[in-house]
Amino acid sequence: MKKKEKIVIIGSSVAAISAIESIRDNNKELSITVITKEKNISYSKPLISHLNITPNQFYYRDKNFYKKNNVSLIFDEAVLLKKNSVVLKSKRTVKYSKLILAIGGKPIIPDIKGINGKNVFTLTNFEDANKIRKFAKNKKNAVIIGCGMIGIKAAEFLKGLGFNITIVELMNRPFASVLDEKSGKMVADEIRKNAKLILNNSIVEIKNNECILKSGEKISAELVICAIGVVPNIDIAKKSGIKTNRGIVVDSFMMTSKENIYAVGDCVEAADILKGENRVLPIWPIAYRQGSVAGNNISGVKTKYEGGFVMNSVDIFGLPIITIGMSNENIGEEITAVDEKTKKYKKIIINDNKIVGAIFVGEISRAGIVTGLIRDSVDVSNFKDDLLKENFGYIYVPKEFRSKEVVPTEI
Ligand SMILES: Cc1cc2nc3c(=O)[nH]c(=O)nc-3n(C[C@H](O)[C@H](O)[C@H](O)COP(=O)(O)OP(=O)(O)OC[C@H]3O[C@@H](n4cnc5c(N)ncnc54)[C@H](O)[C@@H]3O)c2cc1C
Repeated sequence: MKKKEKIVIIGSSVAAISAIESIRDNNKELSITVITKEKNISYSKPLISHLNITPNQFYYRDKNFYKKNNVSLIFDEAVLLKKNSVVLKSKRTVKYSKLILAIGGKPIIPDIKGINGKNVFTLTNFEDANKIRKFAKNKKNAVIIGCGMIGIKAAEFLKGLGFNITIVELMNRPFASVLDEKSGKMVADEIRKNAKLILNNSIVEIKNNECILKSGEKISAELVICAIGVVPNIDIAKKSGIKTNRGIVVDSFMMTSKENIYAVGDCVEAADILKGENRVLPIWPIAYRQGSVAGNNISGVKTKYEGGFVMNSVDIFGLPIITIGMSNENIGEEITAVDEKTKKYKKIIINDNKIVGAIFVGEISRAGIVTGLIRDSVDVSNFKDDLLKENFGYIYVPKEFRSKEVVPTEI
């Protein structure tokens, strides 16, 4: 890449950060400009709901990250992409020779009467969390719409602020897309110790102080958080003639349908190695990896994105859960271990002798090994009966895999 070429990155979160790190690993000279519509930069989104967090923990990279990496920052919103320039909301244009879209996702807003009320919030960035904290003063009752990852984080956030919480979920269990009936029930029981959980129901109207449910029930709600998920931010790409589907379409080098324009992170759909198709996988480690792949490719180190799979790791009022891959699909043999008393549940799904999905509730210490077995497509037929043993460890897995995963001495 020529020295005078100019790289522009839209977005300043994890995918952008890893792109910058890879570019700088390869080339210290290239001009890099980041455009961001957020006031706060390089923080960890998964931590916005944590109340007692130090700035050191909150910032994913230290505040001088951009300065240290010689990156120019523009605080503005990109509204249109032209062949060699980005048009900003302020009407300013910024020239680029290579562009990375790291613009993430946006919250899904359901069509509910009153959803635009002053007491209704989303929780997907630092500003949202701040607005909620301010509005929360002297209020006691809150409703959260949706019981997935963001809904649970919202519940812990509001609990910490002293609220009585009601969570309303459309499905018959929390995290319905990744938890099965059994683990969903265990998680629901745990949530109910801390909040009221209403399943199989939805909100039809939000008023100043209450929500009305489809069932007719009325719930006191001075504050409402809408947490039914996020969708990829594709508007600017679509408007600018870049191919989109559910997410921005990219090839295995993270390049969009337009040469010199790359897209990474929550805004794209890329290879899911378990499903064998391209889809949106909106999780932090995947955004990081894709950012690095695009950063390499635009700074002269050709790198293919090997694909990923979905993983969720969340602590539900003290109960840890991890789900990996196709954790809630009937696609193969299921091995389970349940301990009702200690609230432990483990399930591994095997298809064609390979693990394709897993659920861990209460006991998550082996999730790392299982993730590695999935990622490396290890044939588990010789030790599948050992997978859920209390003492399952690297000793059970093939040597080739062990030496790859565990660098130190023999186990
Ligand atoms: C509350 C919450 C909890 C989460 N918890 C977890 C977790 O525990 N584990 C996990 O793996 N993942 C978690 N996630 C998901 C994780 O945060 C995302 O996968 C990750 O942040 C995606 O990174 P990204 O860089 O692709 O996009 P984002 O982090 O979404 O950042 C995109 C950035 O681009 C900016 N932007 C968008 N459009 C424009 C524009 N036109 N002009 C300028 N700037 C623009 C946005 O303002 C934003 O700052 C959580 C997400 C949320 C919201």
